[in-house]
Amino acid sequence: MSGLSEDFRLPVACPGCGSHLMRVSQVKNPDDVVHCASCGKAVCLWHEAQTVIRQGPGSESEALIEAAVNRRG
Ligand SMILES: [Zn+2]
Repeated sequence: MSGLSEDFRLPVACPGCGSHLMRVSQVKNPDDVVHCASCGKAVCLWHEAQTVIRQGPGSESEALIEAAVNRRG
């Protein structure tokens, strides 16, 4: 991984530390992993993050992130 990444704010907090600041590669491929900028936890994929950003905060977005985190173990 190079330093070519950028931070963005996710409407749903990181399940690990509660931060909303996430990090993704500047390339932003749909299946790029989004990591928490604070604790480094793999939270979801970029296309999932886009869905959450579009939906905004709420139970649907929280469920999507929870499913993504569980899928990654
Ligand atoms: Zn975190």
